[in-house]
Amino acid sequence: MKYFIGNWKMFGVPKSINILDKVNSFHKKDKNRKKYRVIFTPPFTLIESYAKFFKNKKILIGSQNCFQKDRFSSNTAAISPYMIKKVGANYTLVGHSDNRSEGDTDAMLKNKVFFALKNNLKVVFCIGENKIDKRNKKTFSVLKKQLISILEKKLDKKKIIVAYEPVWSIGTGKIPTKIELQKTTIHIKKILKKIFGKKSPAVLYGGSVDGNNVKMFREIKEIDGFLIGGASKSAKKFIDIIKNYYR
Ligand code: PEP
Repeated sequence: MKYFIGNWKMFGVPKSINILDKVNSFHKKDKNRKKYRVIFTPPFTLIESYAKFFKNKKILIGSQNCFQKDRFSSNTAAISPYMIKKVGANYTLVGHSDNRSEGDTDAMLKNKVFFALKNNLKVVFCIGENKIDKRNKKTFSVLKKQLISILEKKLDKKKIIVAYEPVWSIGTGKIPTKIELQKTTIHIKKILKKIFGKKSPAVLYGGSVDGNNVKMFREIKEIDGFLIGGASKSAKKFIDIIKNYYR
């Protein structure tokens, strides 16, 4: 199963649902539809209405983040995994580089993953090296640390997806070379197998994916799908990515 996940970040109002509706209409008729899953992570404000609209359809809804506590607490503006699940989401991103740069620590990420899974949300756990790590040839060690600090065998690997998003690639138009990305994905899967045993959870790539460069990414068989930011705000651009992936 492949994944195409659209991360809207701070984008969208109720009527933006027409973007998802167009993607849904495409998916309904796509001969390849059984091969992949489409998930969108709109802002918190839209999760409930979008999840209701797509309840019996194929598009799944997730949140972009969750708070590191279980249900209710006295943290102003915080939204817990329990609250997210209760309004119909099935997934949550955890550890997106935007949130890491805003202060997500390993201890917080560990709790986020734990409580999200406890509340039956599947977790898309984001990792990625920054420009300086890459320049210093630290990519592999940084990714290893990000994985082993948070993920552990007792977690349900069937509910975990890892998204590899080099920070220097997010929103910049810059992407890794095919060889680089293949080696890195294999490295990530090797670590995941060490943590979880035989079969690795799915590993996605994220960072400036578009309808054009996906033709290169599709040649890397180790990649199980994509986390798509900018291009997910346009139905046409998002659909082009899927079309060109299966072309
Ligand atoms: C992201 O923010 O997760 C992302 C991949 O963004 P973009 O596709 O715009 O690089």
